[in-house]
Amino acid sequence: MTRYIFVTGGVVSSLGKGIISASIGKLLQARGYSITIQKFDPYINIDPGTLNPYEHGECYVTVDGTETDLDLGHYERFTGIRTTQANSVTTGKIYKAVIDKERHGDYLGKTIQVVPHITDEIKHRIMHNDEVDFVISEIGGTIGDIESAPFLEAIRQLKWELGNRAVCVHLTFVPYLKAADELKTKPTQHSVKELQSAGIQPDVLVLRTEKHLSDGIRQKVAAFCNVDLECVVQSEDMPSIYEVPVSMQRQGLDAAILRKLGVPVGETPKMESWHHFLELQQSAEKVVRIGLVGKYDLQDAYKSIRESLSLAGIYNHVKVKIEFINSENITKENVTEKLSEVTGILVCPGFGQRGIEGKIIALEYARMHDMPAFGICLGMQMMVIEFARNVLGYKDANSSEMADTPHNVIDMMEDQKNITNMGGTMRLGAYGCELRKGSKVAEIYGEPKISERHRHRYEFNNNYKEEYEKNGMQCVGTNPESGLVEIVEIPSLRWYIGTQFHPEYSSTVLHPHPLFVSFVKECNK
Ligand code: GLN
Repeated sequence: MTRYIFVTGGVVSSLGKGIISASIGKLLQARGYSITIQKFDPYINIDPGTLNPYEHGECYVTVDGTETDLDLGHYERFTGIRTTQANSVTTGKIYKAVIDKERHGDYLGKTIQVVPHITDEIKHRIMHNDEVDFVISEIGGTIGDIESAPFLEAIRQLKWELGNRAVCVHLTFVPYLKAADELKTKPTQHSVKELQSAGIQPDVLVLRTEKHLSDGIRQKVAAFCNVDLECVVQSEDMPSIYEVPVSMQRQGLDAAILRKLGVPVGETPKMESWHHFLELQQSAEKVVRIGLVGKYDLQDAYKSIRESLSLAGIYNHVKVKIEFINSENITKENVTEKLSEVTGILVCPGFGQRGIEGKIIALEYARMHDMPAFGICLGMQMMVIEFARNVLGYKDANSSEMADTPHNVIDMMEDQKNITNMGGTMRLGAYGCELRKGSKVAEIYGEPKISERHRHRYEFNNNYKEEYEKNGMQCVGTNPESGLVEIVEIPSLRWYIGTQFHPEYSSTVLHPHPLFVSFVKECNK
């Protein structure tokens, strides 16, 4: 009997609904339950694949090749589940499904309306996940947004139909007014009223706050919002997001949810491996500075890479300090100075011309000075181009994404050439890769066959493969079906590896990715 947990947010955005949803998932897993977490995004895009990272942060890719919201990265890192397209739903997807059905004649004779057709489609996407004990559905946006209305109506109906098999966890903000030296609960009261006016009574409230909330404040909120006192928990700022599940467990968030759902609570699980991880994190002192060479000066744009680096640091007993180095500002003249504070560089994925020359200059510096370098997707492609220009002597070498030259060492994939639609048409999702025996990557992975997630249109041009290998850059990972090159490395250097895929998508708290762990280890030498 699957149970459903809806997570909504009010007052302001960026309260960390994704972290709270992931934490609830983690805590229920620790009690032995199977879970899944899905994100509903109220915007009309089919997926965030075509969104500029400045608008929406990183685009996260699932194993089945769905381009999704970065919150799915939190879900996977916290819980270790593998998400799929069922975990990421947008208003665009809902409407598209309904309109496709209408054209197909499935509703013949009927007027198609938001209620019941759109809301039924939303309910279907929620109820469809019935193989797990708990489905956690996070609703993006903030209560009161026009866009989220159909989602709230679907939740209202489901709560009514499912009775105590469904609960609503509502996340709000309690601001601190410095001048008055007071914490204010009014916005929370208003937000709950707004939810109640949509016919939804929240069962649990999570109050986001910068300062500790007294019992008095919690009592006040409980009384004004018709919520049990034990169901009002606070989410204070934490030094690390990975402490949130423990803080939630301490306050009994999971127990409160189970009680509301009529599930026996039982003993509080110990979560030994999680605590072990937190101890490692807290005891790490030595700082390793790693340069993140990219073009988006925005924390969320490279979310999974940042998390993967810091997780890898923790397992190396060090604190990774990420220095963002804007590749647009790197020149031959200043590269030595720009990289002087870091012991390794990670060259980021990306699209388009902007900032690529700086990436190439940084990589040339790393190669010439034997500084550990990790290239991901576009970063790997820049490694290949830099090598062609400066070692193979093809001064005009480039990717056909940027320029048509006689030496397109990175070229468009054959099956991409006739595609004109932008959305969801890249090489997406997990593909197999065979590692060359004796290579550095084979040693790092410790297994000959791996599977990793992709998101790109261009690829290593196999016409040049022999020339690269003769001159010292080895193609050590290939896809067995297509022969596409997935990994390059320069074995004569300490750590110089580029991957066409995105290892950052599969690094989790309890299983940090071996490439990141090995890279940080080398940067720490
Ligand atoms: N723009 C490159 C491509 O499409 C790389 C994409 C990426 O870095 N994700 O192949």
